[in-house]
Amino acid sequence: MLKLFRRETHIQSHPLGTSYDVVIIGGGGHGLATAYYLAKEFGVTNVAVLERSYIGSGGTGRNTTVLRANYKTPETIRFYQKSFELYASLAQELDYHMLRAERGLLWLAHSEPQIRNQRERALQNQHFGVNTVFLDAPQVAEVCPQLDMTAGGKRPVLGAAYHPPGAIIRHDAVAWGYAAAAQRLGVQVHQGVAVTGLRIESGRMVGVETNRGFIGAGKVLSAVGGYVTQITDMVGISLPIVTHPLQAFVTEAYKPVLDRIVASADLHIYVSQGARGELLVGAEIDPFTSYSTRSTFPFLASCSARAIDLFPFMAKLRILRQWSGLCDMTPDYSPLMGVTEVDRFYVSSGWGTWGFKAIPASGILMAELLATGQVPSLMAPFALDRFRRDRAVPERASAGTH
Ligand SMILES: Cc1cc2nc3c(=O)[nH]c(=O)nc-3n(C[C@H](O)[C@H](O)[C@H](O)COP(=O)(O)OP(=O)(O)OC[C@H]3O[C@@H](n4cnc5c(N)ncnc54)[C@H](O)[C@@H]3O)c2cc1C
Repeated sequence: MLKLFRRETHIQSHPLGTSYDVVIIGGGGHGLATAYYLAKEFGVTNVAVLERSYIGSGGTGRNTTVLRANYKTPETIRFYQKSFELYASLAQELDYHMLRAERGLLWLAHSEPQIRNQRERALQNQHFGVNTVFLDAPQVAEVCPQLDMTAGGKRPVLGAAYHPPGAIIRHDAVAWGYAAAAQRLGVQVHQGVAVTGLRIESGRMVGVETNRGFIGAGKVLSAVGGYVTQITDMVGISLPIVTHPLQAFVTEAYKPVLDRIVASADLHIYVSQGARGELLVGAEIDPFTSYSTRSTFPFLASCSARAIDLFPFMAKLRILRQWSGLCDMTPDYSPLMGVTEVDRFYVSSGWGTWGFKAIPASGILMAELLATGQVPSLMAPFALDRFRRDRAVPERASAGTH
């Protein structure tokens, strides 16, 4: 038969099975990547990903696409560095076009404490082999000439941590690429299947209740982003996670002017320009817990004013679109993943405002845990019981808002 396409890039439909070796709840990046690596690295293919809406409909398809490895603690630098490396060859690995572009990320300091913070970040990164350098104000102006170095006359830029590998990548393509590649290896991805309950027998997880009936499972992974506590509540597990909305907006397309990704620690804002020319702006989480994904005018007003302070040319651009997603925030701004107190039930969560860049590393490490029962050393620091053991991984300063 004439083969018109090199490989399948769309998502197949399968009849829903009655049981699988592994059931993954949530068709976001983390769930789909775990499914892919289970099949690819460990030969575990009797796997179903259950997504109640469409794949990538959660944070994975709503984020601002920033990839970076410039964190602060040894545990997180190593973890995000692994993810960054996997992202670098992901398009080739999955045979999927992802528009990855290294832009260089500037993290501006407008105050003495932030100068100390960004200097420390650069030194700590260098120690672990991550390319971050501290730039003084004239060097910042050279790297990003579009920047108003006075920030609207309000908070002059005094320096910045510069992370040249900082990149963007098309977020939907990450979800679709993993899903299509996992399906080619035998994994099933079911959209429109909502998990409504978890079934435990003799202290161990045996399957999930869904809107399409019960599905048996050897192991169950919850990878539902901001909804994680709804899932863990089903079995009485209490997680130190609160869910906050996070908003962003894009302007209409503009000529290519901004090569860098520019974040300001003091203004709580970051700006980049996408491949189609839109200026993309993100900021801090909404200051209240909610499952609402409605965007708000106060966010737009405050955030666009801060963006214009940094880039005055943006004042003449019109807003094209704004949106909101949910963030599963942890007290230390680090992920929460691994085994739970229920046998054969695992959680990938605590991805907050920072989890898109973590998808490949989290996926491959979670697949290793599910396949072998061993917690990989890169994952161990992020265990669910770390707060009880007084082993927080404090990343608030460098997790930032993206
Ligand atoms: C505006 C915004 C900007 C961001 N910017 C960045 C950034 O620049 N860089 C970065 O690294 N991170 C960023 N993030 C964070 C990042 O998007 C998330 O951490 C990441 O996408 C989480 O992926 P996930 O797979 O865990 O969850 P999700 O992508 O949210 O996927 C979870 C899925 O589970 C499904 N689900 C929920 N409940 C059920 C159920 N009961 N049954 C079946 N399915 C269910 C949902 O429908 C959803 O599709 C941003 C987030 C937002 C909102």
